[in-house]
Order: sequence, then structure tokens, then C-alpha cells
Amino acid sequence: MPTQTDVVIIGAGSAGLSAAKELTTQGISFILVEASHRIGGRAYSEEIAPDVWFDLGCAYLVSGPDAEKHIDESNPFIDFAKKQGAFIEQYQYDAHYNFDGQALDDLEKKEQDKFYKECEDAIRSSVSSGDDCAISEIVDLEDPYAKPYMDMMAVTAPKDLDEASAADFFHKVEEHVTFNALRGYGNLVAHWGSDTKVSLDTKVESVDWSGGDILVKTIKGSIRARCIISTVSNGILAAQQIHFNPRLPDWKMEAVQGVPMGAENKIGVHFTKDVFGPEAGGYYQAWSSKAQGAYVDVNLMSTNVVTVFMGGRFSIWMEKQGPQAAHEFAVDRIADIFGNDIRKSVGRSISTAWVTEPWTLGSYACALPGQFHQRELLPRAIDGRLFFAGEATARANGTCNGAYWSGVRAAREVAEVIN
Ligand SMILES: Cc1cc2nc3c(=O)[nH]c(=O)nc-3n(C[C@H](O)[C@H](O)[C@H](O)COP(=O)(O)OP(=O)(O)OC[C@H]3O[C@@H](n4cnc5c(N)ncnc54)[C@H](O)[C@@H]3O)c2cc1C
Repeated sequence: MPTQTDVVIIGAGSAGLSAAKELTTQGISFILVEASHRIGGRAYSEEIAPDVWFDLGCAYLVSGPDAEKHIDESNPFIDFAKKQGAFIEQYQYDAHYNFDGQALDDLEKKEQDKFYKECEDAIRSSVSSGDDCAISEIVDLEDPYAKPYMDMMAVTAPKDLDEASAADFFHKVEEHVTFNALRGYGNLVAHWGSDTKVSLDTKVESVDWSGGDILVKTIKGSIRARCIISTVSNGILAAQQIHFNPRLPDWKMEAVQGVPMGAENKIGVHFTKDVFGPEAGGYYQAWSSKAQGAYVDVNLMSTNVVTVFMGGRFSIWMEKQGPQAAHEFAVDRIADIFGNDIRKSVGRSISTAWVTEPWTLGSYACALPGQFHQRELLPRAIDGRLFFAGEATARANGTCNGAYWSGVRAAREVAEVIN
């Protein structure tokens, strides 16, 4: 590994890789160091059955409604997939609701939709009046449909409602167009990043910016650089896994702590045959009077894989119970919807453990109540030498395409200083 460069990029996820590609375009030298044994970070696919891929992190290629106006709402991975001939398919939001093993009837569905709409309106009016309180303070948690709403929000926020800022949720870039990649979003990102030179297994231990040059100490040796771009998660920054000397200023650490990592986990269950039938695809919100509910995506791209999502404290608890408990929970929820016969065709499952994943320490960042304003400070550079990218700093935060654009933004900021 060279010992001198213009820029050290820390982390080879979507943000670090896009920063590297942009610096290459700008003719600026860099060393991209990655702590783990692979590139992609939270974009990561595993083979759940022969040639059937399950995305442990991002799975939905989203772009926002204002992608024409704001490039950072667009999704370059959609174009990349098309150019590569990788099969992607538009996701249809086909929603089903199931309580105690029964599909809701039309009247119940209307009541549920009405409650969800009331929640949305309450959040909008609270945020419009300048408040940034917890979502739990705004919505009626005693409503009969509050439980599935809480389960769903714990996945999308991804925090329980009492820990989720209403303003942060309200300002999330709406997912306008969504695709899935047959061979995995993670594989797509890894393929896109494969032409970029990365030093793997190279954990950064410290960044000394006390002198004129910055000294980045890694477990493989030190690198002298003019600037760094950090793309590590807010979880890694908050845990101070990278020792900065001098310490990062209080305003930056307060921003990082105000927008901590949330918990979203999923369990992918592969079935050895199609037990769902042609009409059964789409997502289900299944809840019951006896057990914790879940958010379930059925037979995505006809791969016979069902994804069971969990968020917030329940997801942290399940992560501690381990993969066997997660597998049983997922199969039980799927059986709640489709009946016990499906148990005969259950194949392998993969359950994620993002909260204890050492290189992220959480799924993606979400502002605490009253802390939404800290989002603005997350991308802000320090001393014209320390630059910050990664999903938490992005306009489309919590997404892979948002992370991509944050890397481009940070690299352009560096170019303004260096060129
Ligand atoms: C369960 C789940 C579901 C999701 N679903 C979607 C979805 O459907 N659609 C979507 O668009 N997004 C989704 N996301 C979010 C998306 O995956 C992330 O926003 C995006 O991948 C983050 O990219 P990043 O480059 O910011 O961070 P990462 O991908 O986390 O990259 C940071 C890199 O830094 C490395 N690193 C950490 N510490 C060090 C160190 N000390 N030294 C060197 N390297 C270090 C890490 O190993 C990692 O590779 C999901 C995420 C999760 C967890």
C-alpha cells in the first residue's frame, strides 16, 4: 500500500466507491481503504439457494419523485443495470393486510387506510407547525390499527415511534420508482465497483489532522494525505472507532449523536417450490392478537423467496435470540398468512444482524425527536480537509443511491480545495 496520496477515502460502500470514481475523473490521487474483506458495505447479496440471491442490505432500487430536478434523488444503479443487461423488474406495491390469519375485508381495509391517512396528516400538520417531536406523540397508539402501523414504521423509520423524529420521517425522499435486481442489488454494486482499486482488510484506526498533512493510521501501516473522505456510518463515528486527533468538534459529534443508527433486520426464507400461487405476490402486513406482527414481502421476482422485515427494539431483541429463533419467527408469520402447509416446503433462510455488524453498528441513520436539524451538519466538512459522505449525509438518506450521490458531492468538495 502506498504511503502518500492526495486523499484517503475511508470505506468502500456505495459512497466510498462513487467518491473514488469521481476523484479519478477529477485527476486527483487517492487510496481507498476498506476494513472488511469485501466492497459494497451495506449493499451485499448472498446466495440463499443455487443462483437465487438474497440482499441482506439494500434490495429495492429506488428513485425519488424529483429525480429530474434533483439529480441526487435519481438512481444511477438502475441505468448501470440496464447497460449491463442485468435483469431488473419494477416493483409493484401490491399491499395485503392480514390479522389473526385472516385477510382484512373491504370495510376493515378502508378503516385501516383511514387510520394511516390520519397518521400522515397528523405528522404533516405537526411538522408544518415547526414541531419536531416523536411520532408517538402525534399518532393515536390506542387505535385498533395502531399495531400494524407501529410495526411498519419501525421497519421504515427504522426506529420505534417514540424514538423517531417526525420531521426526519416527513422529509424522507419518497420512493417514487422502485426496481429489484434478479441477481441482487449487492451484486450489482459490487460489479459496478469492481474496477476501483481498494485496499481490503484495512481498518482505519486513527486520523491525525494536528499537522499540515493528515496522517491516517491503518492496521496495515500509515498513509500521509492532504484530505480524507470518511464514508463510515454514524454508528462507527459515534462509537469513536476511528480516533481523531484533535477530536472531531462538538458540533459534528452532536450531529452524529442526534442522528444515530436505527435497527432494520430481515429474514429471507427460500421455499423449495412456489407455494404461493400467481396472485399472492406483493407485500403483506400481518399482525395478530397472539404474536408480534411483521412486514412480509412475498415471492419477489418469482424466486420463491419471502422476506420478513422487523424494525426497532423488536428487531434488536430478535437479533440477540439468534438465527434459529429468527427463522422460526419468519416461518410462523408466513404460515399465519398462507397456512401450515407451506412448512413442508421451507428451504434455507438467511437472517441479518445489522445492529451487531462490526463495520456499521446499525442499519441506517434516523434522527432522534428534536434532532432533525442535525442532518444539515452531517455532510459539512471540517477545516477544508476532513470531508464526510455516506447515506446519513445524503438528501435521499438511508438509501444506496443517496450514498452514491453523497460520495460524488464529497469528492467535488475535495476537488474545489485541491485543484
Ligand atoms: C436492512 C437494510 C435494508 C436496506 N434497504 C434498502 C433498500 O431497499 N434500498 C436502498 O436504497 N437502501 C437500502 N438500505 C440502505 C443502504 O444499504 C445504505 O444506505 C447504503 O448501502 C450505505 O452506503 P454507504 O456507502 O453510506 O455505507 P456502507 O455501505 O456502510 O459503507 C461504509 C464502509 O465503511 C467500512 N468501514 C467501517 N469502519 C471502517 C474503518 N474503521 N476503516 C475502514 N473502513 C471502514 C465498512 O466496512 C463499509 O464497507 C438498507 C440498509 C439495510 C441495513
